[in-house]
Amino acid sequence: MKVSVEIDKDSGFCNGVVRAIRTAEQNLGEKAELYTLGAIVHNNSELDRLEKKGLKVIDKEQMSSLSDTTVLIRAHGEPPSTYAIAKERNIKLIDCTCPVVLQLQKKIADTGGQIVIFGKIGHAEVNGLVGRAEGRAIVVENPDQIDKVDFTKPVNIFSQTTKDPVEYAEVCDRIRERMADKSALTVHDTICRQVAQRHSRLSAFAQSHNVIIFVSGKESSNGKVLYDLCRKHNPRSYNIQSLSQIDKKWFKKGDNIGVCGATSTPKWQLTSTARFLKILLKSYICGKFYSIIYGNYSRF
Ligand code: SF4
Repeated sequence: MKVSVEIDKDSGFCNGVVRAIRTAEQNLGEKAELYTLGAIVHNNSELDRLEKKGLKVIDKEQMSSLSDTTVLIRAHGEPPSTYAIAKERNIKLIDCTCPVVLQLQKKIADTGGQIVIFGKIGHAEVNGLVGRAEGRAIVVENPDQIDKVDFTKPVNIFSQTTKDPVEYAEVCDRIRERMADKSALTVHDTICRQVAQRHSRLSAFAQSHNVIIFVSGKESSNGKVLYDLCRKHNPRSYNIQSLSQIDKKWFKKGDNIGVCGATSTPKWQLTSTARFLKILLKSYICGKFYSIIYGNYSRF
């Protein structure tokens, strides 16, 4: 059986995640262990790899009970209250907030009046942005939640950096429609360039393959957006977290397969998925998969 498996060249960590992981690894070279506030990346395989090197994920409550230590802040950023805890507890922060997120936090802090944030409620980046607005922010997750907005007052709207640009435009249009003074809506273009560019390229990638294997952690907000995009353009798209979730029923003879992932998916995981698929599909002879493979692959 002829096997065609291609990895999307644009998939893999974004600059913000690369920077945070590189900084963590540099510091782990000097320290036996290092704390990170929240998962440094929404990918369990990568987290396991870093955990073996001494990276420990803690939450804010655990941070509040620590003192005289070092904590890394991941690319998503944190609200001002986290910096206050660090000061109070004599905790040194290694601040890996992505420069794009930092700029967005600053913009929100400098903007007056009613602020609307299009993003996922409870997501770390969104919590950080809400914290900068000091109680003036309303978070809207989708166009159906815009009733929370006061349409009689001017609105400044910002998007979480990893949201879908098309959905953001829809939310803005729906708010504008409800406002008596249409000019009182100011839309801030805050979707990360790296993410926005990926949308059109990924749509084309999904359309040009028979099957899409999308590798991403379930917790990844960006992963959900990009996987939904793949499914929209190719119904034979499947989201996996590990190789054991791959089902041979997904494939047909002669399929060309595309492997891609979120901004939190490491390249090494995409490569190992592609390698696995090549071996799996080579074992497909006369309509059956033969167990010519080993290790993780033995279920086939
Ligand atoms: S998606 Fe963009 S803004 Fe968000 S961490 Fe990555 S590079 Fe930074």
